[in-house]
Amino acid sequence: MRIVMKFGGTSVKDGESILHCANLVKKFSENEVVVVVSAMAGVTDSLIHAAQKCYSDPSPGFVKLFSAEMTKKHYEAIEEAVKNRDLKSKVMEVVDRLIDELEKVLLGISYLGELTRRSEDYIVSFGERLVAPIFSASLLSLGVDSVALTGGDAGIITDRNFGRAKPLPKVYQVIKTRLDPLIRIKKTIPVVTGFIGITDDGSITTLGRGGSDLTATLLAAALDADEVWLWKEVDGVMTTDPKIVPKARLIPEISYQEAMELSHFGAKILHPRALEHVVKKKIPVRIKNTFNPDAPGTVIKDIATSTKDIVKALSLIEKAAIVNISGAGFDFAEIMAEVFNRLSEAKVNVIMVSQSSSELNLSIVVDYNDVNKALKALKHLNNGIVNVSEKKDIAVISAVGAGMAGTPGVAGRIFSALGRNKINVIMISQSCSEFNVSFAVARKDCRKAVEVIHEEFNLGG
Ligand code: ADP
Ligand code: ASP
Ligand code: MG
Repeated sequence: MRIVMKFGGTSVKDGESILHCANLVKKFSENEVVVVVSAMAGVTDSLIHAAQKCYSDPSPGFVKLFSAEMTKKHYEAIEEAVKNRDLKSKVMEVVDRLIDELEKVLLGISYLGELTRRSEDYIVSFGERLVAPIFSASLLSLGVDSVALTGGDAGIITDRNFGRAKPLPKVYQVIKTRLDPLIRIKKTIPVVTGFIGITDDGSITTLGRGGSDLTATLLAAALDADEVWLWKEVDGVMTTDPKIVPKARLIPEISYQEAMELSHFGAKILHPRALEHVVKKKIPVRIKNTFNPDAPGTVIKDIATSTKDIVKALSLIEKAAIVNISGAGFDFAEIMAEVFNRLSEAKVNVIMVSQSSSELNLSIVVDYNDVNKALKALKHLNNGIVNVSEKKDIAVISAVGAGMAGTPGVAGRIFSALGRNKINVIMISQSCSEFNVSFAVARKDCRKAVEVIHEEFNLGG
């Protein structure tokens, strides 16, 4: 069997957990395995913070301190994860070289006072680039042949949309050429950095937060893998985020489409574009818990959808914003075309749309982080006669389930339950696939709203 296994940040949070994960890989190493790794928990966030600090409040002292902390964290991981002396000192040298490089970029930003999305991607990439060699050395020290690769080495070539780059159509071929001989002929286990790619001319890109899921599914599709295993610190896909509703229950099987709806609407368990590649090839994706490796977890696959679970799961985007476009006496289709063209050019992530056309009123939910970009893109729309406003303290909840299609009364139950609990709904959307009902509420009400609907549909264990 050919399996692509991804270990997320919480699975590789320290040396002990890296060793634990390497042992899991060893256990399955009679298969053809490709490993994808994330940065250690918290490292991506601290790299972003460091880049922004160097830009807005430069201090060489901070760069020294930050580099020392990063070195310490990764040295400690090596100490625990790599048991062989020679391998240990080799991988320490790799870490030293990477941290040197990181330090230079951070100092460069401090001196130049310039931070582009390109340099931010470059800085953020160090998180994964530091873990791959450690994980690979850990495997080697357990007697499993392995080689560390960056996303670029593995053939993940992307466009230049830094921060949210998309793999180019040719990647399947490139990945296959680079990785297939390693796993099939050399019988080695490539450990590939998740989350990062490279442009045709050699700049490092990132695939969006949580993008190592996408790296894994992309490699699986290119390599015609039999399965993808995403190892996490939860048992699988639950009826909602267990951090919000502790009673959330495990969902043993879920269709690609339902899982895609959940991830599009914010369920952090999966990157929103992660399933695009495996759907076409019908490659099943398992979510498994590193702390409970023998449990089957959740399988995301091509299943005939059951009508039993009307609402199967709930997702929440806690930080969103609404951009509202209003006016009267215009050609509605013309304004819509102009609005979406501009948003697309500005690479704004559109989450949800709702319109009423008696007079023009178009409400668009965007990522909270994109709202200023959206407003800028929509400036002087129709010579400024159209009115553009925003609401920033919004959250979006989505109820997902294939059984909702053709079942009357689901939306009624959702909104009555919210009404009974005095939660005001600001905007509603349901596409005609009827796989989800999504709505926006004030951010202060969102967690309560999730609990109320979870209860209404008896989703808890
Ligand atoms: P990774 O280790 O791969 O980066 P993430 O931290 O990105 O894993 O995803 C796991 C987290 O997703 C869990 O800690 C959980 O809080 C959150 N989550 C959100 N929605 C769900 C859901 N429906 N089922 C399970 N976990 C969820
Ligand atoms: N390390 C990256 C992030 O924190 C990618 C990932 O974890 O998938 O977003
Ligand atoms: Mg993730």
